[in-house]
Amino acid sequence: MEYEVISNKNNEILLKSDKVKIYLDPSHIIDEEFIFISHAHTDHLLNKKHLKKFNLKNKIISSRETSAIANLRGYSIMDYLGSCEGVQLIDNGHILGSKGLLVNNKIFYTSDLSTRKRAFLKKPEIPKVETLIIESTFGKPEYQFPPLDQIIHQVNSLISEMYARGIPIILMGYSLGKAQILTSLFGTWKPLIVHDDIYRFNEIYKNFGITLEDSIPLSNAKEKEILNKKPWILIYPLTSGKHNFIAYLKERYGAITVGFSGWAINKNYSNFMNLDYVIPFSDHCDFNELVEVVKKSKPEKIFTTHGFQKEFARYLNFIGFNAEPVDKQKINKIKNNKNNKTLDGFF
Ligand SMILES: [Zn+2]
Ligand SMILES: [Zn+2]
Repeated sequence: MEYEVISNKNNEILLKSDKVKIYLDPSHIIDEEFIFISHAHTDHLLNKKHLKKFNLKNKIISSRETSAIANLRGYSIMDYLGSCEGVQLIDNGHILGSKGLLVNNKIFYTSDLSTRKRAFLKKPEIPKVETLIIESTFGKPEYQFPPLDQIIHQVNSLISEMYARGIPIILMGYSLGKAQILTSLFGTWKPLIVHDDIYRFNEIYKNFGITLEDSIPLSNAKEKEILNKKPWILIYPLTSGKHNFIAYLKERYGAITVGFSGWAINKNYSNFMNLDYVIPFSDHCDFNELVEVVKKSKPEKIFTTHGFQKEFARYLNFIGFNAEPVDKQKINKIKNNKNNKTLDGFF
């Protein structure tokens, strides 16, 4: 079964053969075809209305972990990998249970990808394929993240220095994925308080066998007045330092904020976010890691998607690959032509 890569009018990618279609992380669908859900971040989950509208029994392709996390987020999906021939789920190192999709050993869709070993997440194996569909969130050369050892050392030194002065610390990262890595890396500092959403995700990770230090949900910490016993560590979703509750913690307890994000490479990021410290640490590949993935995969054709897709495709062409971005503008132009419901390739 030969597949071709297609982008539809919603700029969503699908693989199409003469028999089946596989949507890749769609937010919208128009029929009851296969749907690959790479992981349970909301930008990769199908709109709940669509899930109800279509009968997707045996049509969803996802890992057990992704189904479990999505279900915690109000979905009701099961993994049904068995019913689609020729597909394989491949670890992509992004968050627990996140997968890339390998089709007929020829096409590999990475989805959100990190090839860096981080805490309990292993470095993924990249398959050699003919066609690579790769994310390009940080597909510009300036996005190069420091080694993890250096980050761990830097953050532990900072915490130790603040603890010596009785100053509490708020570590901030995305609730699902980053926060569990932060819990794993810095959870030995006590008392360890975590936002209630993060607590729930930590518990799911533990159910899947990931070892994480025990933590106190923020609501309990408030009830038991643990915040009054400084210093403490709080792991909180990444948000602005001006956010009401964070501003209160800073004012009331003199807490300092540390944000973890790949965007911290940008010089103005800490000002923009109003955070005391920012650390370039991501659940995505940095630029060099993306290039390494492409070189390992040795594809004849590359499609780049998300973030700096144009810039990354341009660079890949420059070093001798054949790459094209998912080009929203061109697709929008064609969208107006009524005869074109789906578009072949990315032009
Ligand atoms: Zn993601
Ligand atoms: Zn994403």
